[in-house]
Amino acid sequence: MDLISYANDVIDTRRTDVPTNRVNLELSVVADDLAVVEAFSHSWVVRTADGLVVFDASGEATGQAVVRAIRGWTDDPVHTVVYTHGHVDHVGGAGAFLADAEAHGRPRPRFVGHTNVTGRFARYRDTNGYNTAINRRQFGPSRRRNAGAAVGFESAFLPTVTPDPDVTFATEMTLEVGGEQFVLRHDRGETDDHAWTEWVGRGVLFVGDMLIWNFPNCGNPQKVLRFPAEWAAALRKMAALSPSLVAPAHGLPVSEAHRGELVLTSTAEALEHLVREVIESLNADGTMEDAIHDIQVPDDVLALPWLRPFYDEPEFVVRNIWRTYGGWWDGNPARLLPARQRDVAREVAALAGGVAPLVARSLALVEAGDTRLAGELIEMAALAAPNDRSVHEARSAVYAAKRLAATSLMAKGIFEAAAFQSAEAAGIEPPTFTRTRPL
Ligand SMILES: [Zn+2]
Repeated sequence: MDLISYANDVIDTRRTDVPTNRVNLELSVVADDLAVVEAFSHSWVVRTADGLVVFDASGEATGQAVVRAIRGWTDDPVHTVVYTHGHVDHVGGAGAFLADAEAHGRPRPRFVGHTNVTGRFARYRDTNGYNTAINRRQFGPSRRRNAGAAVGFESAFLPTVTPDPDVTFATEMTLEVGGEQFVLRHDRGETDDHAWTEWVGRGVLFVGDMLIWNFPNCGNPQKVLRFPAEWAAALRKMAALSPSLVAPAHGLPVSEAHRGELVLTSTAEALEHLVREVIESLNADGTMEDAIHDIQVPDDVLALPWLRPFYDEPEFVVRNIWRTYGGWWDGNPARLLPARQRDVAREVAALAGGVAPLVARSLALVEAGDTRLAGELIEMAALAAPNDRSVHEARSAVYAAKRLAATSLMAKGIFEAAAFQSAEAAGIEPPTFTRTRPL
């Protein structure tokens, strides 16, 4: 089945038994002079009389294969590469496009992006160690072997060959290439440097990560703040254009205006709902703790194939919104100027008569299905007795259970890292996990 029919079927039937975020590195021609290579991220390619305009360079690990796939379609020079934003899975493949130009003896492509991309790149260079570590944890040791999800950890987090944009814009810019006109607009959403583009006369929107075919990546626990309210507003602007095709950098293309409006509007509504609920909670002098436990997105919304919480999840987005409008204090006065967690853990273990009761209760809670409470107790045991192998053996099992109970890749990655860390401390075989759901 061709890509558009496949995507239409998923949207029309809401089916969730087939992959929506494919990394098959195959090129599909979806309309006249328009193709996409499904990768991590995708590259969307427009053929013009003066050469190709490419939206996103894909990541370091997939860039070469993406260029090869494009070369299987056309030998036209690459005129312009638009960074939809500066995340490494969208810019890390730029080196492959530079190498392609050099191999053909052609001038290098022009790189275009929002003005904040340059600052993002500088931040990545400043925080190289941190970003390398958190992405390794986020994407998980077991996933690093999967080429599809590889992010290129071997050298710098941002590959050193990645060019800053040659042309930047702040709010809106029109590009003319080979008789085709593209209007680039900036809105904040997943990032502060997004550019989404309208291909004038064709009704095609290249939206970057404004649509990722997962619940919006808007609460990432290890990364900088995201912008859910502005994200929703941008989606509404896109829907108002009645696009003939929404071309996201992850997931499936959304063809015809009625599907575009459905997918864009339902995503906007989910974000608006969370923003509204968190603000209501803040205004009622609520606590972040109550907000993260009480505020939810309805299950039927999370069941939509483009909104499943397999990457980020609503609870993390609630925290992001809370931090946007409020402070970092969680409402517990003891934690304003807190004791060290290990000192608290030692006190509790002493009161309990040692770490053994904490470990036993934690394992019992796992059996009973309360992995949240189980995590709290096993963490206390490990903090109170950091060199106790039996504690780490149990901790590895508890986090393996938490990993299995988690839906989002972000939670899975962190729990998996903890399970592996304790397996190593206990001198036991690390637990094994298989991917059970499409990303
Ligand atoms: Zn992305």
